[in-house]
Amino acid sequence: MTLTRSAITVPGPRSTLLHQRKTAAVAAGVGTALPVYVERAEGAVLIDVDGNRLIDFGSGIAVTSVGHAAPRVVEAVRRQAAEFTHTCFMVTPYEEYVAVAEQLNDLTPGAHEKRSALFNSGAEAVENAVKVARHHTGRPAVIAFDHAYHGRTNLTMALTAKNMPYKHRFGPFANEVYRAPMAYPYRWPTGPAVCAAEAFDQFVALVRTQVGAENTAAVIIEPIQGEGGFIVPAPGFLARVADWCDLHGIVLIADEIQTGFCRTGDWFASEFEGVVPDIVTTAKGIAGGLPLAGVTGRADIMDSVHSGGLGGTYGGNPVACAAALATIETMWAEDLCGAARRVESVLRPGLTALAGEYDAIGEVRGRGAMLAVELVRGGTKEPDADLAARVSAFCHRAGLITLTCGTYGNVLRFLPPLVIEDALLHEGLEILGDAFAAAVAR
Ligand code: PMP
Repeated sequence: MTLTRSAITVPGPRSTLLHQRKTAAVAAGVGTALPVYVERAEGAVLIDVDGNRLIDFGSGIAVTSVGHAAPRVVEAVRRQAAEFTHTCFMVTPYEEYVAVAEQLNDLTPGAHEKRSALFNSGAEAVENAVKVARHHTGRPAVIAFDHAYHGRTNLTMALTAKNMPYKHRFGPFANEVYRAPMAYPYRWPTGPAVCAAEAFDQFVALVRTQVGAENTAAVIIEPIQGEGGFIVPAPGFLARVADWCDLHGIVLIADEIQTGFCRTGDWFASEFEGVVPDIVTTAKGIAGGLPLAGVTGRADIMDSVHSGGLGGTYGGNPVACAAALATIETMWAEDLCGAARRVESVLRPGLTALAGEYDAIGEVRGRGAMLAVELVRGGTKEPDADLAARVSAFCHRAGLITLTCGTYGNVLRFLPPLVIEDALLHEGLEILGDAFAAAVAR
């Protein structure tokens, strides 16, 4: 089995040298999952500076959904860079920004009239979504959930749940942020069947008793939680929260930064629950690797903000916008929503088979090309972060890029480029099988 794979040495000598330079030059707070330096990449494969080939099951954290060096994106970036790279949309605008806004308005859930604004990063999109919701409602409070991840700026750190490494010693945080329980079926104390109803009741009780609906500007939720552990909320939970927000004039913000743009098998993950959010935040997969983020919402909410109230020097940079238009075109032309479902049809059975072999795999979950296994000490639900780290380290040495996540650090997540060939998915699954055999036996 392993004979079909060429042996690789990571990190190789060139990566090792570069890593020494990194340690001397780059702030220690900027960590790296693998000390392997990339020279080029194509599709779902990275080549490092020592000539090693790595299969990418991470997509640079859910970004390169169209694949590395996707031809349409490369061409659009080249063309746009040669025409102009920056004017600042707030000074002299350009068509590409408007075209991306039109696409976002069309593609996000709901047929209502919408407006969009563009930014540089996911965190910046979330910050602006909250600004808009507060401005529109005239209310201060924002409700986020356990296990949530929304970014690393001051407000988004406050919205993010996990202390280490995201918040530790970086406070004080922005105020008027409250946290409700997440409908996390695998860990719901009274079982998955009652999870949606009980989590919803607790959410309502929290808002009523600690905040007041009339003081609440927004509820922000990831339709499938990303960094928190690829947690798919119990069916019906999102819809109940959405209906309740609607009843109380609270802006529902769906943070689709990780789930959006075909990743889960549809354009947006809210669609699986039939939820139409008031505002959707997007980034990551939107522009094939170029930094771009969007806030898209109901026209009356978005247009409530005065001219000049939203913006930034680089937001909606023309090269990033050209890349986004090429990315969206590729997603249509190559049916990448269908591709995400194909990825699931290969990966999920492989992961389920592994779960049958190892009781350390407590749950296989996710949707489309956003799948994960939660690792526990065999026979219990006690999180096993060490095992996740050992399996991941084995995969890295064998040339498979895997990422960990989860509040307890015990979730292995798989989010390959959607264009990945089946053969590479199978090769990745083989490496993963070997990794479990080695790590569990230890
Ligand atoms: N929201 C979600 C759901 C995310 O997954 C992320 C990034 N992991 C962010 C916000 C922040 O995005 P960025 O890193 O681009 O600021």
